[in-house]
Amino acid sequence: MGYRAMQFACYCGKTPDRILEVGFTSDRNMVVHFWCSSCSRVLFISHSPAECALACPPPDQQTETQFAADDARFLQSVGIAVPE
Ligand SMILES: [Zn+2]
Repeated sequence: MGYRAMQFACYCGKTPDRILEVGFTSDRNMVVHFWCSSCSRVLFISHSPAECALACPPPDQQTETQFAADDARFLQSVGIAVPE
């Protein structure tokens, strides 16, 4: 399973050097709270579930293929025919 690191930028254009907290809101958004030492600002970034899904990398094709083959072997071992 691969992952893609989130990219952060302050309003000043610098990359923040400290992430203070990562959390979730009651309406299911992800929030990242960070500090920019270049301009001494505290910032919050909020992403909806849809925005998080868009930021995810594509599925790892090799891993997905391996899971499908493992699933097929298991189903065949318990007598269930699996279409190719
Ligand atoms: Zn800044």
